[in-house]
Amino acid sequence: MDTKLKNQNNMEQGQQLNIQLDKTLPLVCENCGNDTFQEALFLRKVSKFLTASTKDSLLPIPTFVCARCHYVNNEFIPEPLKPQTEENAN
Ligand SMILES: [Zn+2]
Repeated sequence: MDTKLKNQNNMEQGQQLNIQLDKTLPLVCENCGNDTFQEALFLRKVSKFLTASTKDSLLPIPTFVCARCHYVNNEFIPEPLKPQTEENAN
C-alpha cells in the first residue's frame, strides 16, 4: 500500500526563530513611512523558448508591498527587476 504524503500542504510558515524583537530593526515604507506590509508577487512572463515547453509561463516572485500605499521598497525588488538607472542617484 502506498503511504500518502500528509504533509504536502506544509507550506513554509515562517520559521519560528528565537529572535528577540528588540534586537531587530524596523522596516518602513520608503514612500509613506508606514510599517506594515502585505505579501505580493512580481510576475515574470517566461518565454516558452526558455523552458522548452509549448506555451509561455509565469514566474511568480514573492515580494512585499506597503499595506497603506502599496509601494514596493527598493530592497524588496530583486536586483534584475530593478529599473535601470545609471548611477544610484540619491
Ligand atoms: Zn507606503
